[in-house]
This record gives sequence, C-alpha cells and structure tokens, in this order.
Amino acid sequence: MKGTLRYGCHLRSHGSFTQMGNKAIRLAELEGCSCFQFFAKNPRSLQLKLDYEQDAHECRSLLETASIKTIIHSAYVLNIATSMQPDSTLFTAHAMSLLNDLVIADACGAVGVVVHFGVIKHSDKLQGYRDIITMLNVVTDSWHGNALILLENQAGLHGGLGVTLDECVQIRKLCHKPDQIGFCLDTCHAYVSGMWNADHTEGTSQLLEHGRNMDYWPYVSAVHVNDAQEAYGSKRDRHAGIGQGRISPTAMEQLLTSAELRDKLLILETPESGERLHSKEWQLIRAWYALDHHTSHHK
Ligand SMILES: [Zn+2]
Repeated sequence: MKGTLRYGCHLRSHGSFTQMGNKAIRLAELEGCSCFQFFAKNPRSLQLKLDYEQDAHECRSLLETASIKTIIHSAYVLNIATSMQPDSTLFTAHAMSLLNDLVIADACGAVGVVVHFGVIKHSDKLQGYRDIITMLNVVTDSWHGNALILLENQAGLHGGLGVTLDECVQIRKLCHKPDQIGFCLDTCHAYVSGMWNADHTEGTSQLLEHGRNMDYWPYVSAVHVNDAQEAYGSKRDRHAGIGQGRISPTAMEQLLTSAELRDKLLILETPESGERLHSKEWQLIRAWYALDHHTSHHK
C-alpha cells in the first residue's frame, strides 16, 4: 500500500500552543500519532486572539521537528452563513474570527482551519449558499497565507445545509479563490445526514464513487473519524468511539483504507478514555491498515 497512515485526535491546548505541541509529541512517541487538531482560541466566542506569536512559533518548530501535521478547528459559534444584511457588524465579527484562525494556523504551521458549512435560521437555502460564498470571498480576498479553509459537512440540523458532497464541491467552485478552500469529511455527520449509508453493503463504495464523480476527494485534507451514537439519517450529531457506535466497523475500515482517503489526516473527535486518550481506537485503525497492507501486498 502506498501512502502514509496519519492518525491522531483533537487536543485541548489550554491556552498554550507550546504545551499542546509537547503533548502531541508525547502521543506520537507512545501511540504513533502524527496529526492533531486544536482550537486557536476560546471555541465559545468570536473574540480574536492577538498575543499568539511567540507561543505559536515555538509550537511550530516543535511540531516540524517531529514531523507532526495539524489542523485548527474554528470556534463553535462561527457561522459562515452569517448574512451581511441587515447587520454587517455581525458579518464582520464572523469574518474576522475566521481570518484570525487562518493567521494563527500559519503561525503554528497548521495545514488549515476547519469550518462547519454554516447554519441558517430561515428556509431559503439559496440565500444561505450566497451568504456562505460572500463570507468565504471576503475572508480569502484578505488572506495571502498558506493555511486553507476546510469546509466540513454537517449532520443535517440547523437549516440542513452542507449535508452533501455536491454542496461542498459547488460552493468551493463558486468562490473567487477555490485554491484556498479544501474539505474535511466528518464520518459521523456523513452517516447521520444520510450521505453515507454504512448500513448497506454497497454504501461505502457508493460514497467513494460519488466523491470521485464530483471530484471531491483530491481536495480533502482531513477526516474527522467519528462513530455515531444515532441512526443513519437521524440528523442527530452525537459522536461515539470508533467501533462503539452505529457505524459498522467493516464500513469504517473500507472507507478509511480506501485509495481516496490515503494520506488524509485522520483525526478522532470521539470521547477520550484515560491517560492514553484513544489508545484502543488507534489500535483498531492501525490493525485495519496493517490488514490492508497485507492483502494488497499479496495481490
Ligand atoms: Zn467534525
């Protein structure tokens, strides 16, 4: 099998990127992890973080030395479907928060910033898409760094936007600077939204094929590897540990070891258990890859 298996999890930074970097290195040594996700700032607020430089640069050199890749998750309260009308102040606050995350991502050496597709409180989906494109254009027009905006598919509530690969691909194409936009696939959201029928034997190959037809996979930088506590199509977003939820382990294995997902950063956002965080789940992922390696070796 070609490509590198990279797995890890969301790490809490507790306000210090350097501390987070040291924790990442320890998990790399203990568990073989080589990618992580973290928050650039308080996830419950749009408030900007301005005093990051020295801490971020220290973190960057630690992670580069250890060949660890990272992504940043934007604030939970960030909504890229926030409209400019009637109040552009609110729109600006969201745009500035995302821009701040991108600047910090570059300072920390992170690949990109994950943003949820966007929430609408009205029923006009087209207007929602227009607002998202406006937001992404405003942000990327003033962004000249390397970090990408990584659009994440959603579970299906809050207006029902961003539940298909088609929406992600189309929004990216319609933006001024598509090269600054990539994707993050969340497996729990894909399952509960009805995008990925992991209950059906053909479901995974159908998702992979649809993504190939849409030209989605080449732009995926990261995968949020989450099992689901709720049923297929339920639209209810409750993550479970890998192999402990409703998603069949066979389907998860098929998806994660597919050629399409090779080299993507596999990041767990599942409940932590104990000191070693996700030890058992990582063991499972390693075993799936080893098995795949073994079988492809003998083909
Ligand atoms: Zn996610």
